[in-house]
Amino acid sequence: MCELALEIAGVVVDVIEQFYRRHCSKKNRVNVQKIVSRVNGFAAFAAGYAYAMGRVALLSWFGMAVANALELTGEPVQGGLLVGQLEPGQSVQYRGKALQLDQQHRFIVALDRDAEPELVLQVSSPASGEKQSMNTQIYPFAIRNREYSIQHIEGVEQKYVEPNPKQVERSRREGQWVVNARRQQRAQNDFFDGFIWPVRGPITGVFGSQRVYNGQPRRPHYGVDVARPTGTPVVAPSGGLVTLAHPDLYFSGGTLIIDHGHGLSSTFLHLSKLLVAEDQQVLQGQAVGHIGATGRVTGAHLDWRMNWTGAGGNVRLDPQLLVEPMSEWVALPNESIESTKTGD
Ligand SMILES: [Zn+2]
Repeated sequence: MCELALEIAGVVVDVIEQFYRRHCSKKNRVNVQKIVSRVNGFAAFAAGYAYAMGRVALLSWFGMAVANALELTGEPVQGGLLVGQLEPGQSVQYRGKALQLDQQHRFIVALDRDAEPELVLQVSSPASGEKQSMNTQIYPFAIRNREYSIQHIEGVEQKYVEPNPKQVERSRREGQWVVNARRQQRAQNDFFDGFIWPVRGPITGVFGSQRVYNGQPRRPHYGVDVARPTGTPVVAPSGGLVTLAHPDLYFSGGTLIIDHGHGLSSTFLHLSKLLVAEDQQVLQGQAVGHIGATGRVTGAHLDWRMNWTGAGGNVRLDPQLLVEPMSEWVALPNESIESTKTGD
C-alpha cells in the first residue's frame, strides 16, 4: 500500500515536472513548484496514513464511512506506553482482554521490546436506539521498530555462562514473588499526569540491549541504569502502592516494586536501603530508597524497570520513554567518574 501510494505520487510529480520544464515560463515556476511540493507532501501524508491505518485506510480511501475517532497519545514505538481516551459507555479490548478504564474513560497499552508492527484495539460502543446492543470497531495502529545494541562476547569461561542449579532454584522462587507483586490491576491513576526520573545521573545501561556470551544470548536488559554512589536517594517516579519491598533478592538485591495502577509498575533493583514498606502508599517525588550495589552487579547504580500486566501478559516497557531527557545533576563532592562504568 505504501509503496504503491509513493509510486503513484512519484509518477504524478514526474509528469508535472516535465510539463513545467517544457511549457511553463519562469514566472509560473514558483507556482508549479508549490504544486509539486504539495503533491509530495500529500503523497507522504497518504503513505503515512495508509501505513498507520492499514485496512481501515483502504476503506476510507474509497469513500466508505469509517471514522477513526480513537486517538492514542504517547510514543507508538517498541517499549512505549500509549494512553487512549474513550467516550462514556465505550469499552476497549486488546488481545481479547478488556482494558481497565479510569473514571475519565482513559486506558493504557504498553508495548514490549519486540512488539509487533501493528497494534490492534477493539472498541465497543453502545448502538444508538437499541438497548444492550453494541457496535464494535477495529482500530489498527502502526508501531515503530527499534534497533537494540547487541554485544557479542566470546571466550568467556563456561562457569560464568551457566548459572549453578541452586541459584536457579532460588531466583525462580523469588521471581514468583515479583510476578505476584505486579499482578494486580489497581484503580490508581496518578501516572496519567506523567513520570519523573527517580534519580538523576549518568545513564550506563539502556532498555533492550543484549549480550551474547559464547554465542548464547542473555536476557535483554529491560531497565534503564543510572549510576550514582551507594546512598544516593531514589524517589518514586509517580505515585503508587508499594507491593514488594525486599532487602536481598539473589539477582536484584534490595528490590522495590511500586504499583502505579492499571497493571503498570516500577521496579527498582540493587538498592542498599529501603525507606518504605509493603502496602505503603507513596507520592511522586517521595524518597523510597537508596542506590546500592546489592545483588549481581559490578557497581552501584539504580536499575529502573517498568512492567505492564494489563492484558494478562507481562510487557516490559522502556522507562526512559516516559521521562524528560536526563538533565544536569549535582555530583557529590567525592563522587568519582568511575561509577559511570557500572551497570547491568
Ligand atoms: Zn540494569
